[in-house]
Amino acid sequence: MALLEEPIKEILKLRNYINGEWVESESEQILDVVNPATQKTLAKVTMSTKDEVNAAVEAAREAFPEWRQTTPLARARYLFRLKELMEDNFEQLSRVQTMEHGKTIDESRGETRRGIEMVEVATGIPSLMMGYNLEDIATGIDEYVIYQPIGVFCHIAPFNFPFMVPLWFSPFALATGNTFIVKPSPRDPISQVKLAELMDEAGIPPGVYNIVHGGVDVSTNLLEHPDIKGVTFVGSTPVGKVIYRKCGETGKRVIAQCGAKNFMIVMPDCDQERTVAALMTSFFGNTGQRCLSGANLVIVSEDDAFYKKFLDAFVGAASKIKVGYGLDESIQMGPMQTVDSKKSVIGYIECGIREGAKLILDGRKPNVVGDYPDTAFLNPTVFEGVTPGMTICEEEIFGPVASVLRAKDLDEAIEICNANSYGNGDAIFTSSGKAAREFQYRVESGNVGINIGIVAPMAFFPFSGMKDSFFGVLHGQGRDAIRFFTESKVVIQRWF
Ligand code: NAD
Repeated sequence: MALLEEPIKEILKLRNYINGEWVESESEQILDVVNPATQKTLAKVTMSTKDEVNAAVEAAREAFPEWRQTTPLARARYLFRLKELMEDNFEQLSRVQTMEHGKTIDESRGETRRGIEMVEVATGIPSLMMGYNLEDIATGIDEYVIYQPIGVFCHIAPFNFPFMVPLWFSPFALATGNTFIVKPSPRDPISQVKLAELMDEAGIPPGVYNIVHGGVDVSTNLLEHPDIKGVTFVGSTPVGKVIYRKCGETGKRVIAQCGAKNFMIVMPDCDQERTVAALMTSFFGNTGQRCLSGANLVIVSEDDAFYKKFLDAFVGAASKIKVGYGLDESIQMGPMQTVDSKKSVIGYIECGIREGAKLILDGRKPNVVGDYPDTAFLNPTVFEGVTPGMTICEEEIFGPVASVLRAKDLDEAIEICNANSYGNGDAIFTSSGKAAREFQYRVESGNVGINIGIVAPMAFFPFSGMKDSFFGVLHGQGRDAIRFFTESKVVIQRWF
């Protein structure tokens, strides 16, 4: 693939990667991949046909027996090569993400780094995949567990971390000896194509790793294919529920990591300066398009003085955030990923006004650094006087909008938080160990932050989630991923 550089020299034509070959789709359904900052088309992506999905599954199925017999150590060596190639291409991979998604270049670098870390952790597979045993479960009889790969898995990806999210799964699937198909988000699939080029360069055998571009139809064809043994999905809750149900019906393993509405609880004894700084990246980083973004800010205060002081500091910092094209190193917040996403966020802002919340920072008429169309840009927005039950308190807005609530004490804050249907990444800001422990113990959230605004688990821990934020049992990343991608086989042996 040609390098993606600014200004754009050619519009890329994205192809599928099936059985180690780059193949053009025969479909006539083609979408534009648009840079949200410049509104220029970067690439054309084709929605693949059912035959093309079948070809990818067939390639992955045929590659499985040999890949499975490739020793864990040898599989790890492919991943070591992949890691080196990712490091060599670090800056280009990051620039592609900024161009196709809109996030700032520093946010993209963070995403690339996190993606590489998944590969690094998966290289430990000879140790990670070990089973366990017990001698003499009865006289002269031993019993042990071995973990075996299962077959073809797929990933259905969201748009908001186009490079990193598929890597929460693929290195672990490959390392455990399975074969894999990625369906990137059609909104920003270029960085996945770049990654597949590196998989190819790393020498990963044909059919072991494949990419099929498309939207709902390709997802459905993957979900209904009898040779797909398991599905990893990351995306919105309504779609996650469909995927979870379909996998139940067809007997496939599934991880469905879904939407969120995260609460940031601020106690009066917090370190105000550091808390405000952490909350800026939590609420407005990635333009609020993170499943771990702060969405509801609960200021715990009986006393007006702390409430007002903290809110002023929060709004003051939010109003100073520099918005523009993320390739400019000085920019702190990029555009929404599409014009439609911006419209959806504006719809929520109007709904907040209608339902009686007070708009104290209005980002609808964006102030953008540089000469770019303001079509997809927004500025940080803050509502005060938000109460449970309001749409902007309950639903995922997925944009740079903070809803500020007030609670008289920690009990009330936890109650407000737990009443929400989601449970992805809630956090408390405090200097009290007792309050932190109480919060950790009682909060219904899969990932919990204590003085941390974005509770993103490292590659060697599971990426958790509860309630409407997650459907399944085992999670992506870490030891959970190793278990998800393997069957536990129990052997009981006696020798005469
Ligand atoms: P989305 O649900 O619209 O799409 C996700 C994927 O599903 C895409 O590849 C899309 O093509 C496909 N898809 C869409 N409709 C489908 C259908 N009916 N059947 C089968 N497949 C379908 O999500 P999105 O807008 O791309 O991503 C944003 C969402 O992802 C947010 O809700 C965010 O919170 C969530 N997310 C969650 C996590 C997490 O770990 N919990 C991480 C990142 C993003």
